[in-house]
Amino acid sequence: MAHELPPLPYAYTALEPHMDEQTVRIHHDKHHATYVNNLNAALEPYPDLQRKSLDELLKGIAAVPEAARNAVRNNGGQHYNHSMYWEVMAPNGGGAATGPIAAAIAAAFGGFDTFKEQFSKAALTQFGSGWGWLVKSDGKLAIEATSNAGCPLMEGKTPLLVIDVWEHAYYLKYQNRRADFIAAWWNLVNWEAVNKRFA
Ligand code: MN
Repeated sequence: MAHELPPLPYAYTALEPHMDEQTVRIHHDKHHATYVNNLNAALEPYPDLQRKSLDELLKGIAAVPEAARNAVRNNGGQHYNHSMYWEVMAPNGGGAATGPIAAAIAAAFGGFDTFKEQFSKAALTQFGSGWGWLVKSDGKLAIEATSNAGCPLMEGKTPLLVIDVWEHAYYLKYQNRRADFIAAWWNLVNWEAVNKRFA
């Protein structure tokens, strides 16, 4: 069973004005699709790996034969990260965290505003291409950044929230202003989806 590009869970225009239609269209239909195609190509010689779910593949990345490991890490990581990115955004999202994750964030970071500030800083200061994350690691919440296709699943952590800070995620609308993109992105966070992952 080949890996498949998940359909965008909303219209291409749904995240306007914070995320423009053209960015969403190219990001999902071109960038994300290419990672899925390249992952399938990398798995082509390995029927046993083709039977694994994406989560299994990434958690067991060390067991992937060396000849395919980088391609699986990069394209599988990007497939996972992008699928999650679309999932944790929603039109009419944003605002302070809600539900059980709100209490956990308050306990771990001392309040939502402090969390937001620290998460934004991690995303902003990630040098070059990468991702900003809220994860659960050893039962505790933590903020992280990964470069390129880095995915916390590969390190045994549970990803709860993610922002894409590759330039392709924001350059058409925000050009070099990554901080403006991050500030706008907070208006899209789907706390219901984050709570589902946290549960
Ligand atoms: Mn991306």
